Amino acid sequence: MSDVSADAFAPSTVVERLAAPHDGPVPFSVEFFPPRTEADEARLWHAVRVFERMDPAFVSLTYGAGGSTRDRTVRIAGELATSTTLTTVAHLTAVNHSLDELRGLVGAYADKGITNLLALRGDPPGDPLGEWVRHPEGVSYASELVELIGSLGDFHIGVASFPEGHHRAPNLAADTGNLIRKLRSGAEYSVTQIFFDVDDYLRLRDRVVAADPEQGAKPIIPGIMPITSLATVRRMVELSGSVLPQRVAERLAAAAGDGPEEDRAAVREVGIDLCTEMAQRLVAEGAPCLHFCSLNFTRATSEVLERIGIDTRGALTPA
Ligand SMILES: Cc1cc2nc3c(=O)[nH]c(=O)nc-3n(C[C@H](O)[C@H](O)[C@H](O)COP(=O)(O)OP(=O)(O)OC[C@H]3O[C@@H](n4cnc5c(N)ncnc54)[C@H](O)[C@@H]3O)c2cc1C
Repeated sequence: MSDVSADAFAPSTVVERLAAPHDGPVPFSVEFFPPRTEADEARLWHAVRVFERMDPAFVSLTYGAGGSTRDRTVRIAGELATSTTLTTVAHLTAVNHSLDELRGLVGAYADKGITNLLALRGDPPGDPLGEWVRHPEGVSYASELVELIGSLGDFHIGVASFPEGHHRAPNLAADTGNLIRKLRSGAEYSVTQIFFDVDDYLRLRDRVVAADPEQGAKPIIPGIMPITSLATVRRMVELSGSVLPQRVAERLAAAAGDGPEEDRAAVREVGIDLCTEMAQRLVAEGAPCLHFCSLNFTRATSEVLERIGIDTRGALTPA
């Protein structure tokens, strides 16, 4: 009988998972969001099971602030951690939370065995580009949330990074300084906002390494997304305060055509080509992992994975 220590069952950290053996040219991870309806929840669990077979380095679940979404987020994160083999990262934002509530949420995640947390400030509810108002008994910035979580136990914390710079940062130097502050506060890695120009990611990496080589050694995990609808991606980009690079916008607009409705099939094809090209370049440039924003769908991400040489274990075979 083999000697298996209790440690073999301890939850892995994201950094450990990035260093573990993996199929294909690079580890990958998948971001899910908490569903609002039962039908959406069924779609989420289908996606979870499809990706689980491909052994992602980790999966993450975004955090929505308001009451019922919050409870559902914590419940689903717990189910991901306890009823799958997946290393689960729970996002946590500071929006509308007092310090006591934040401590309670971290405790609720810990009770479900979740020790990997992505610490975020969050955006103002309703209008993400509107004025940020700190909860009177809360925190102002993600770096404070990193410190708070770190003070509560043995957690493994990631933070957000921004290849084009955060839209509220006065300049790229301030944005880089903020990422370094979050890493120095105890974060072990960052995950980027979705971007569509690999050069922006490479420049961010260079800036962090130049400003602080020690923090620059921590993984910066690129967040990417296969575009399947021009209207959706335009809205996502607008809400995050960034822009679609002109070259990308032109390729998508040409595929969408001039009709009253965009040609979804053509946009999807170009979107998957664009994402594959980005993934291949990121792999060649030594990205530590590819983090796919799946929107709880499986096919487009699976197509990109397959094209870059990751075995998708039948995900693309018609049922
Ligand atoms: C990978 C990823 C996952 C995300 N997941 C979610 C999610 O699950 N739920 C959700 O609601 N949102 C999510 N977001 C969105 C995120 O909450 C917003 O982008 C938010 O505007 C910034 O969050 P942050 O953690 O980077 O904030 P911070 O790091 O606090 O930065 C916010 C702004 O404040 C500035 N700043 C920070 N510290 C200081 C300081 N000491 N002095 C002066 N200025 C400072 C920064 O430069 C920046 O402009 C995610 C974003 C990313 C990239």
